[in-house]
Amino acid sequence: MQEPIDLFSDTRTKPTKAMREVMATALVGDEQVFEDPSVNELCARTADLLGKERAMFLPSGTMCNQIAIAVRCRLGEAVYLDCTAHPLTAEAGGPAALAGVILAALPGERGVFTGPQLEAALAGPNRNKPRARLVSVEQTSNFGGGRVWRLDELDAVCSVAAKAGVGTHMDGARLMNAVVASGVPAGRQVRDFDTCWLDFSKGLGAPVGAVLAGSADFIEEAWRFKQMLGGAMRQAGILAAACTYALDHHVERLAEDHENARRLADGLATIKGITLDPATIETNLVFFEIEGDAQSFVKALAKEGIRMGAMGARIVRAVTHLDIDKAGIDRAIAAAARVLA
Ligand SMILES: *Cc1c(COP(=O)(O)O)cnc(C)c1O
Repeated sequence: MQEPIDLFSDTRTKPTKAMREVMATALVGDEQVFEDPSVNELCARTADLLGKERAMFLPSGTMCNQIAIAVRCRLGEAVYLDCTAHPLTAEAGGPAALAGVILAALPGERGVFTGPQLEAALAGPNRNKPRARLVSVEQTSNFGGGRVWRLDELDAVCSVAAKAGVGTHMDGARLMNAVVASGVPAGRQVRDFDTCWLDFSKGLGAPVGAVLAGSADFIEEAWRFKQMLGGAMRQAGILAAACTYALDHHVERLAEDHENARRLADGLATIKGITLDPATIETNLVFFEIEGDAQSFVKALAKEGIRMGAMGARIVRAVTHLDIDKAGIDRAIAAAARVLA
C-alpha cells in the first residue's frame, strides 16, 4: 500500500526532521513577559521582513485576524473585504461575535476587488451606513484559487482607503507564496498596510504559529486581546523556533509547490469531466469544477489514496505543499482520471 497523497490543504505538512531538531534544542522562556528568546527572535525577524515596528506571536492566523479587527474597530463599524475572504467565510462569525463589526463583502474577481470598487462602496457622506473603519485584503486569495494581488491592485486599494481615512489590514496567510510567485518583496507588498500577518502553519510547514505585525502602539493594544483570548503562551519558543527555521529554509522552495500545482492543473485539465483553466494557477492552490458531485468524487479519490477537499457542490480544491513531490502529483492525476472514467 502506497502512502496517501494529501492535497487537502497546505496545513497538512508535517515538521521535517531538521525542523524537529531545531525545536528540540530551542532556547525558551516565559513568552508572556518577553523572556522567550526564540519568540523574541521570530517576532523581530518577521517585523523586519514586513517593515513594521513590532510583531506578536500567536497560535493561529484566525487569531491574528480577530485581534486586528477587535483592536481597530468599534461596535457597529464596518470591515470591507472580498465576499470569499476568510474572516467572513471561515472564522465562525468571530468578527461579529468578538468585535461587533459588520463585514461588508465586495464581489471581487477571484478574491481580488479593485480600488474603484472600494471607492464606490465607501462613497457618500452617509450617516445611515455603518462607519467604514477597515479594509482587509487576502494575499494570496484562498477561495480565489491562490490568485496573487498585483502590486498595482494593492496600491490602488490602499490609496482609496487612505483618502477615505479607512485603515488597512492584510491577511497574509499565504503572503510568502505571493512573494515567491511575483518576486515582489514582502515589505513592499505590505508597505501601505497598517497591520498584516504571516501564517507559518500553511505552506511554510511549521506545526503551529502566526505572527501579527504593525505599529508599536497597535501591538501594545493587541497584547490586551492576546491575553483576553487566551493566546498568551509560555515556553512557546519551541514553536517559534520552527517558524524561524521555516523562514530560513522553506520560503524559496515554495516555487516547487507552484510548479507542482501547475503540473497538477495541466494534468487535470486534460481529463474529461473536469473544467479547469491552467492559466489561472499562480501559486499552490488548484480549484476545479467537476461534472458530478464533488463530495462523491473526493470520497472515491480517497479510496485511491488521494485526498482533496470538496469546496462546493461541484468545486474541488487541491493544494500542493512541501510533503508533495512530482511523483505524487502524477499519482493524483492518474487517480482522478480513473475515478472519472
Ligand atoms: C488558513 C487561513 C487563515 C486562518 O489561519 P489559521 O492559522 O488556520 O487560523 C486566514 N486566512 C486565510 C486566507 C487562510 O487561508
